[in-house]
Amino acid sequence: MDMVKVKQACRFGLRGVNHLLWPAVCISCRKSICETDNNLCKDCWEQVLSCAGADYCRRCGRDASRYGLVAGACPDCQGKEIHFDQIARSGVYGEALRKMILAFKKGRTELDSVLGFLANSALQGSGFYDDVELFVPVPLHWFRRLVRGYNQSLVLTKTLKHRRAQISADLARIRYTKTQPMMASPAARAKNVAGAFAVRRGHQFAGRNICLVDDIKTTGATLNECAKTLKEAGASKVFALVLAVAGQKVG
Ligand SMILES: [Zn+2]
Ligand SMILES: [Zn+2]
Repeated sequence: MDMVKVKQACRFGLRGVNHLLWPAVCISCRKSICETDNNLCKDCWEQVLSCAGADYCRRCGRDASRYGLVAGACPDCQGKEIHFDQIARSGVYGEALRKMILAFKKGRTELDSVLGFLANSALQGSGFYDDVELFVPVPLHWFRRLVRGYNQSLVLTKTLKHRRAQISADLARIRYTKTQPMMASPAARAKNVAGAFAVRRGHQFAGRNICLVDDIKTTGATLNECAKTLKEAGASKVFALVLAVAGQKVG
């Protein structure tokens, strides 16, 4: 047997041992799967993908038929002041995606393989992929990051595949804000995050096209405030990419 064959045999042997010690399981429900199943079992893929797809308003991210838009705005966001130029989403905040995002925020960072796949698909279909020059994860206050151990938006941002855009950490959350309760009014949520962000000295935002990245958009108050801060720092365009848009009926 020549060396190449010996190496191949070792590799297959190791993979076999590896599989025996750590059999492939669905990272959501832990059912056993084939290694080619991309981390989720068929049922979980179906459930997650049922939250994805559907036409949405590129201005606010809510479900909307493209025929129901007036000057690019759906009935829900018409007349609303939105500081980001366009939004892309993976899906709606339905049961399967919600479960996965909540687990992702509670330490299950290995879910980034599946969530990253969804985020990349949304980015590819966004229409602004080619324009992006910098990715900016929505920052956590340092104290919350200390408690959680990581910023889930940064973990998600690191999964994004782009031929030239870099990640910038020069947007900071300078004020500790209460967790936005799901049921709070849009005005209350906007007030809660007003003035909560700032750019770091030496930032590279002026004249650049930036894509903000976050896990969920509810009323959009956080994304709006981040986009406003980036525009005040001279950003040319600000896009937003989120996994899920909440606060609407899931069809
Ligand atoms: Zn599963
Ligand atoms: Zn809209």
